[in-house]
Amino acid sequence: MVETKYIFVTGGVTSSLGKGIIAASLAKLLQARGYRTTIQKLDPYINVDPGTLNPYEHGECYVTDDGAETDLDLGHYERFLNVRTSQANNVTTGRIYQSVIQKERRGEFLGKTVQVVPHITNEIKERIQILGKSGDYDIVITEIGGTVGDIESLPYIESVRQLLWELGDNNAIVIHLTLVPYLAAAGELKTKPTQHSVKTLMESGIKADILVCRTEHDISDEKREKLALFCNVKKEAVIQSIDASTIYDVPQLMQKEGLDTVTLKKLNLSDEVEPDLSRWNQFLERHKNPKNEITIGLVGKYVELQDSYKSILESFTHAGAENEVKVNVRSIHSEYLSTKTIDKKLMGLDGILVAPGFGERGIEGKILAVQYARENDVPFLGICLGMQMAVIEFARNVLGLEGANSTEMNEDAKYPVISLMEEQKSITDMGGTMRLGAWDCELQPNTLVHEIYGASEISERHRHRYEFNNEFKTEFEEAGLVASGINKKTGLVEIVEIPSHPWFVGVQYHPEYKSTVANPHPLFVGFVKAVLNQKKKQTNASLA
Ligand code: GLN
Repeated sequence: MVETKYIFVTGGVTSSLGKGIIAASLAKLLQARGYRTTIQKLDPYINVDPGTLNPYEHGECYVTDDGAETDLDLGHYERFLNVRTSQANNVTTGRIYQSVIQKERRGEFLGKTVQVVPHITNEIKERIQILGKSGDYDIVITEIGGTVGDIESLPYIESVRQLLWELGDNNAIVIHLTLVPYLAAAGELKTKPTQHSVKTLMESGIKADILVCRTEHDISDEKREKLALFCNVKKEAVIQSIDASTIYDVPQLMQKEGLDTVTLKKLNLSDEVEPDLSRWNQFLERHKNPKNEITIGLVGKYVELQDSYKSILESFTHAGAENEVKVNVRSIHSEYLSTKTIDKKLMGLDGILVAPGFGERGIEGKILAVQYARENDVPFLGICLGMQMAVIEFARNVLGLEGANSTEMNEDAKYPVISLMEEQKSITDMGGTMRLGAWDCELQPNTLVHEIYGASEISERHRHRYEFNNEFKTEFEEAGLVASGINKKTGLVEIVEIPSHPWFVGVQYHPEYKSTVANPHPLFVGFVKAVLNQKKKQTNASLA
């Protein structure tokens, strides 16, 4: 067996250059050549995980099967590779320190002074090698968050330096992602920022093996030579990463630039097998040549920041390609929805998705959006909080339970149709204490979801504290809102649907975390299909 090889991806000049996409694209190309590849993200912030972060801070919090609350880049890794990630794929400074401090309290350092070097760096090195040592992977790509030169990423850079030395040439390499900006006034691409960031990396004892240069214009041969000479890399290792119209084009762009071949060469691995990207290309082909178009309203309160709903947006891309439909997603701020504005704001939508979320802000707008979808036969998907809002809306407007609410919003709600599980009531710590990760769900026969999944047993990922209150279940079912998915062990309701509506589904879990290019999520595929059918039906009716 070959020893696991390590690729470190660092970033220079600015943040937001798309390290996650470059890492995922390279991983895709290596995987397509038969190498078992995984990606890991190291985040230099002090939160133990992003679970306690507001989406405005850091975008969506992604959840893995094992219940880890992680950086949204892990979503890209899973969507590109179709391989599951876990807690080991995302490490933060908070987690590193927490672990080192716990060891110190247990006396494991035997009276030594505990320091950044070697104790923190050792912990980082251990975490980097966990995936490699599992024997499951030929190649581990580790993405270092932040930008080279940041104070907080120094221990990570030092750990990479030590590992490069320990693992030896051809076993570990560094890919440095930088920006080559275009100065319109000079009409020229500039290489100096890249030279400086490579220099900063060298000051920490690390020489980049490959440069990936983000650019808005083609980098000329002459500029590539200059970059190679001043940054100490071979010319073939200067890779241009030009702005792409979709992130899903990046693997092919990287292949054209030879990122995978130069990587394999440096790692002393064979590049004889050509990448098999047939499934990927089939998806791209459909994604780029839609036969129809639909518009779906995404009702949420974090809509100002696209990254807040990253996985939902990507799931629509996958489901759109599967149905050969262009899915336009219109963001609708739930705080601005009122009885006065609702018709105008939701006009022209072919489908409505009410998004996940926490807290009271904007919930009345979400409830109005549910009511609009239910009463006007607009296909509806409610995710997590969106499902809870669908239950509240039905309770208030169909069952006539005035004041029905979730106890998250009103502890003393007269009709607590969404409430806390007993186990959750005594919890005071916020971090990592929700119902998290993969839970089984049994789909009831003769339901819409049973047909969509084509299965009776499914497993989906959760991230919430509050639940459908089973005390009201019979009342709901008798009035036409059916519990179509249930966790057998706990009896918790995971899915509700309204059989008399063309397509109305609320799920307590997050289907968006499991949609990938190779495996678009059935619920999103089914939703997009229903939206399209309903649109066609309406167009035909208006023509008749
Ligand atoms: N706030 C709700 C809960 O905790 C829903 C969470 C979510 O949408 N992810 O149950």
